[in-house]
Amino acid sequence: MANSPYHRSVVESPDLADGPSSSSIATVQKPQTHPPIYVTRPHLPELPGLIQYLEQIWSNRVLSNDGPLHRQLELELADYFRVPHLSLFSNGMLALMVALKAMSIEGEVITSPFSFPASTHSLTWCGLTPVFCDIEPDTYTLDPERIENCITRHTRAILPVHVYGFPCDVQKIEEIAKRHNLKVLYDAAHAFGVKYQGETLLNRGDASMLSFHATKIFNTFEGGAVVCRSREMKERMDILRNHGIVDETTISVAGLNAKMNEVQAAMGLLQLRDVDQRIQKLKALSATYNTLLGEYPGIRLPHDLPNVELNYSYFPVLIDEAEFGATRDEVYHALKAQQIFARRYFYPLISDLPAYRQLPSAGRENLPNADVISSQVLCLPIYADLEMNAVERICECITGLQR
Ligand SMILES: *Cc1c(COP(=O)(O)O)cnc(C)c1O
Repeated sequence: MANSPYHRSVVESPDLADGPSSSSIATVQKPQTHPPIYVTRPHLPELPGLIQYLEQIWSNRVLSNDGPLHRQLELELADYFRVPHLSLFSNGMLALMVALKAMSIEGEVITSPFSFPASTHSLTWCGLTPVFCDIEPDTYTLDPERIENCITRHTRAILPVHVYGFPCDVQKIEEIAKRHNLKVLYDAAHAFGVKYQGETLLNRGDASMLSFHATKIFNTFEGGAVVCRSREMKERMDILRNHGIVDETTISVAGLNAKMNEVQAAMGLLQLRDVDQRIQKLKALSATYNTLLGEYPGIRLPHDLPNVELNYSYFPVLIDEAEFGATRDEVYHALKAQQIFARRYFYPLISDLPAYRQLPSAGRENLPNADVISSQVLCLPIYADLEMNAVERICECITGLQR
């Protein structure tokens, strides 16, 4: 993973950082240098809070297997989202896989090529066949008008992605699923705290997966969860995530190990305390980006979506070369030269990866919107303690490229 174009923000080489300048006698003025800015930065709670939990873990000697902190986090998160059933996992990818198993899906699953590869990899690891469907240009989520064209007699489910926390067209997807008797599992890895029509997005479809990876707005180092509609599904997932163990002598299914441990759960309990404040800070940073970039032709800002409260944990812009005068990649490299590490999420498309490009649904002609958006998109740095003047500097660098 270290060499993948994803998740680089937490492993980016620290030797890129500028030390204090030592050459005060230089006659040529050195360009002003700044510390590097990454697309995101993992949120860390105050250390003493974690140490308190560690002391509790040390005295309990319960490190995993549905320990007290794990149980508390499941309850607190279910309460925070106001959802009936939630199960924790060691990461988001395994959460997706266990949810797919618990739903007993076999055959083809319709999904979005414009996402993090784990969305599709989870299908592959469950022996399912991904079928890529194009996205629509306002939310970058599955285009409901095209979903039905992808349905064959082998289709069993839809795995839509609330990419950047932009809600999928949940109503239309529900209608299609009902009409064709399909299950719906949302990849809601980006949708922590997002509200649609005043309610959490996580109560839609049969189930929704969250990721608590270090780079996400709420992290447990690594971690994930599935929110589901029925108690039976939660019970199945809880057995699957722990090797299929029901009791000492009963192993009911071929499970796997996807459990969250107590230290991860402790981290989650701490993160939950201030996640709403962080969302408010991200909202203010987004507003500044919108103001500073709003006037520039060729830069398309995230759409205002009616009835949606975002979590603002991504700030994706589209760079239209014809109007702006520079390509997305030119902007990306110019920022990089200034130590600003914006990211081309999500490029390349999953359908263009070697594991998938031979699939009949993977052809670019089948995915025209995804193809264009993936070639134009750039996610600008955003995280709760990003300084406003850093946002200004980023915007100046971008607008200075306009021709
Ligand atoms: C982060 C992410 C995942 C995978 O989650 P992990 O916790 O890293 O396994 C899946 N889908 C999307 C859209 C993601 O951004």
